[in-house]
Amino acid sequence: MKKRIYLLYGGKSAEHEVSIRTAFSVICALDFTKYEVTPVYITKDGNWMKRDVLKEPPKTMDELERQLNRDVNGLIEIMRDIAQAKENGEQLPILFPLLHGTNGEDGTVQGLFEILNIPFVGNGVLASAAGMDKVIMKNLFAQAGLPQVKYVSFNRFEWEKNEDGAYDEVEKKIGYPCFVKPANLGSSVGISKCQSREQLQKAFREAFQFDRKIIIEQGVEAREIEIGLLGNESPECSVAGEIIPKAEFYDYKAKYEDGNTALVIPADIPNETYERVKEIALKAFKVLDCSGLVRADFFLTKNGEVLINEINTMPGFTPVSMYPLLWKHTGIDYPELIDKLIEFGCEQYREKE
Ligand code: ADP
Ligand code: MG
Ligand code: MG
Repeated sequence: MKKRIYLLYGGKSAEHEVSIRTAFSVICALDFTKYEVTPVYITKDGNWMKRDVLKEPPKTMDELERQLNRDVNGLIEIMRDIAQAKENGEQLPILFPLLHGTNGEDGTVQGLFEILNIPFVGNGVLASAAGMDKVIMKNLFAQAGLPQVKYVSFNRFEWEKNEDGAYDEVEKKIGYPCFVKPANLGSSVGISKCQSREQLQKAFREAFQFDRKIIIEQGVEAREIEIGLLGNESPECSVAGEIIPKAEFYDYKAKYEDGNTALVIPADIPNETYERVKEIALKAFKVLDCSGLVRADFFLTKNGEVLINEINTMPGFTPVSMYPLLWKHTGIDYPELIDKLIEFGCEQYREKE
C-alpha cells in the first residue's frame, strides 16, 4: 500500500513564495509508486485548501498552482480524513510541512499536528518555537555554554518607554558594527547592519515593524559555515558548507533573488574546525530538543573561533538550497533525503505512542 502524504505549503508568512517553490521540488522528487501525495496549499490569509490526490507530478509550478482549488475548508477535510483512517484502523497519513517562518516553522502548526495525534515530518512544538525566537534560542545556547556573539534584546514597550536608553544600552554593551533583527523571523527579513547611532535608530524602527521583540547582536567579521543534521535521538551530521554572499551580508535578496551567492561544499576548513562545528551543532540540536532535521549556522572568525549563529528547524529545502546540497555531498540525494525525513517523522510518532 502506498504511504499517504499531505504536503503543506504556502502559509501565512513572509516566506510564502519560497515555500511554494519548495513544495514543487519536493513533489517532483517524490516516488509516486511509493507515495500518495495530497498537496495542501495554505493561502497568505491562512486558509487551508486541500487539493485532490496528485495522479502524477506537475510539470511546472503553474500547473501545481492551477490544480483544483476546491474552496472548501481544507483543514476540516484533513481532520475528517484522519478521523476516518483511525476509525477504519488504516495507516495514518503523514503531514509534511514545507512551511517557513511564522505559523509554519514556529511550533504553531506543529501544535495542531500534536493535537491531531498524527505523524509529521520535522521538529516538534518546542524545538520549532525555541528555534524561531532568536532571543530564546540564544538564551538556551548561553545556558548550555555554547559559544556565540554578544546580544541584547528589547520589546516594543521597553523601547517606546525610553528610546535613547535602548540605544545607549546597545552602544555600551554591544557597540558597532551591530546587527538588529526581529526576534521571530527568518530569511533575513527586517535585519539591518548598523555602524552608527543614526543607523541604529532606523534599524530599530524597521525591525519593530516585523515583531514586538528584537535582538541586537555584535557584528563579527567572519566566514559563514553551515552544517546539516538529520535524525532523531542520534542525528547524523553532513559535511560542512560555506556561504559566500556577494552582498554586504546574507540578506533576503542574496538568499532568494541574486543567485549570486556562492555555496562552497564541502567548506574549505581545517578538520579540527569541522569537528568543532559538529560538536556544537549536535549540542544545539539536543539543547533545543530537535527532531528530524536542522541546519545549524556558524560564524568562523579570523582567529579560528567557531560561534553558533542560529539553527533553522525548517531550512530552505529546494534542490539548490544549502541543506539538501550538504546531504548530496554527504552521499544522500534529494529523493532519498525526503524518504529519510518521512521515515524519521514516522519513527518520532512511534516513540511518542
Ligand atoms: P535569518 O534567520 O533571517 O537567516 P541570521 O541571524 O542568520 O537571520 O542573519 C542573516 C545574515 O546576516 C547572516 O547569514 C549573516 O550574513 C548576517 N549576520 C547576522 N548576524 C550577524 C552577526 N552578528 N555578525 C555578522 N553577520 C551577521
Ligand atoms: Mg534563521
Ligand atoms: Mg540565517
